[in-house]
Amino acid sequence: MKRVYNFSAGPATLPEEVLKEAADEMLDFQGTGMSVMEMSHRSKAFDKIIKDAEQDLRDLMGIPDNYKVLFLQGGAHLQFAMVPMNFMKNGVADYIVTGNWAKRAWKEASKFGKANCVASSEDRNFSYIPDCSDLPIDDDADYVYICQNNTIYGTQFHTLPNTKGKTLVADVSSCFLSEPVEVEKYGMLYGGVQKNIGPAGVVIAIIREDLITEDVYPNTPTMLQYKTHADKESLYNTPPAYGIYICGKVFKWLKKMGGLSAIKERNEKKASLLYDFLDGSSLFKGTAEKDSRSYMNVDFVTGDKELDAEFVKEAEAAGLAGLKGHRSVGGMRASIYNAMSVEGVEALVKFMKEFEKRHSK
Ligand SMILES: *Cc1c(COP(=O)(O)O)cnc(C)c1O
Repeated sequence: MKRVYNFSAGPATLPEEVLKEAADEMLDFQGTGMSVMEMSHRSKAFDKIIKDAEQDLRDLMGIPDNYKVLFLQGGAHLQFAMVPMNFMKNGVADYIVTGNWAKRAWKEASKFGKANCVASSEDRNFSYIPDCSDLPIDDDADYVYICQNNTIYGTQFHTLPNTKGKTLVADVSSCFLSEPVEVEKYGMLYGGVQKNIGPAGVVIAIIREDLITEDVYPNTPTMLQYKTHADKESLYNTPPAYGIYICGKVFKWLKKMGGLSAIKERNEKKASLLYDFLDGSSLFKGTAEKDSRSYMNVDFVTGDKELDAEFVKEAEAAGLAGLKGHRSVGGMRASIYNAMSVEGVEALVKFMKEFEKRHSK
């Protein structure tokens, strides 16, 4: 068996330890004689799996008691609709558009009310986070929306916007659990788990209780109301049970790694290895502006499309997978989520150095 260093943006690399444990438990989960995949979601064994997962997540993030943790489906994309359907009580919301995902969320919200774009970085292909210290927040805005880490463009909010007292809603799909977070600063944060936590098919939403009400957009389907899932502790219908089980294992792995402060330190170390090399490189160049750089997704180019393609191909052959950049940026993207080891990033930098040497004029 050969495992590669997987730099894919998502679905993405998972801790090997977690995968091995899941493999060991595949046929017989802890004496039940069945796989978690085959188990009733109303069983005692699964009840413990989902409750432990929630508790471990609460411990890791320090989630206050007045916040609900929901395990949902439909990807981050369904949240682009559920957020306005559930929260646009005045029919107004402000969006900060820092990339494709924020833009999609903004466009979707405009189906349900007045969705304002109060800041954007599209003028320079989303290569930076705009100044959000004094935005024209609408007096009637029900919330202010951000995509905290822009997976495609490799930028990240390092300070949260000044929402002028309005509720902050954040898509944290690609920076979930990458560093400690002050949950109290958000009304809601959510993410698809397939970037930094687990397998595709689960979305985790953390929502302040007072925001979960029956006052939703007219005729909102039962399944698209947060209250439905909050009242039944994510078991209104069959949840993505196996995915939740793997997420739970990743939470335990994170606890063992020392929690979010320790993981942040490791993530910063990995990001520095790459950015420091890029800053001194004669061939490669980072595409995100320095003060907006992401710790999770590192975008870079050589400036020559053919050379970029050659790099991706040769890297793949050297066991460094998933480095092709998103089509809207081009070049390369190294996603260095929690489960990517320091050794993986060192191997990438070493390969880049060699490639640079071979192609220096
Ligand atoms: C990947 C991604 C999405 C889209 O997620 P789906 O689960 O495919 O809907 C949305 N937002 C961010 C920040 C992402 O990284």
